[in-house]
Amino acid sequence: MEKEYLFSKKIKCAVCQELFEAKTVRTARLRRKQPDFDLRPRFQDIDPIKYDVYSCPHCGYTALSRYFDPLTKGQISLVLENICMHFTPTEGPEPDIYDYEFAIARYEQSLKCSETKKASVSEIAYTHLKLSWMYRAYGETLPEHAAGEAKQKEEAYYKKAYDGFQKALSTEDFPICGMDSLTMDYLLACIACHFKEYSFASRAVSNILGSQTADRRMKDKALDLKDVIVTAIKKEAEKKNA
Ligand SMILES: [Zn+2]
Repeated sequence: MEKEYLFSKKIKCAVCQELFEAKTVRTARLRRKQPDFDLRPRFQDIDPIKYDVYSCPHCGYTALSRYFDPLTKGQISLVLENICMHFTPTEGPEPDIYDYEFAIARYEQSLKCSETKKASVSEIAYTHLKLSWMYRAYGETLPEHAAGEAKQKEEAYYKKAYDGFQKALSTEDFPICGMDSLTMDYLLACIACHFKEYSFASRAVSNILGSQTADRRMKDKALDLKDVIVTAIKKEAEKKNA
């Protein structure tokens, strides 16, 4: 099933200039399912996030597709020196479909390359978020007794994404990672709730509710989230008073 959603696309490596084939998802075919609480998208038959990384088999340079190129000359030198010099070219074709271990390895390599090329704070935060989502999805495929490590990694990358996006908010202009400020507010409010940082979550939700540009759907989602926050704050207070 998953295979039918994929095709191969020729990509030119931004570092070594060699061509390679990357598995790409036919997005027109995707059938959306209910997303997770934090907007992580879900689709029938396939998790397209697994395929959102380009990795050059010749030199090892790897990045999320949206950040694969262009690179500055300085970034190319950094990657050549710190990644490519130590990379053994991959032989043979790619697997027909990626399992989560394979996809996660790609994301880990992508993170290493982002740090090496001194990517923007938001690019690194976005990679952390997607890695966290990959570990969440991987954990869902494991029996509960075996999912502990995946859960820990999911949490650790989630926290890094949260910290990184907050930093990006004060240093970068929108759109950030393709998100407008309302989408970012919603995403961060969800993550803040997860970490029980309710005052930050409340502020982000208020931004959405007070916005002139947020549509009805967005405001409804923000109202639902506000209910969650209010209930959680009450529960915390009861626990303290008990
Ligand atoms: Zn390359």
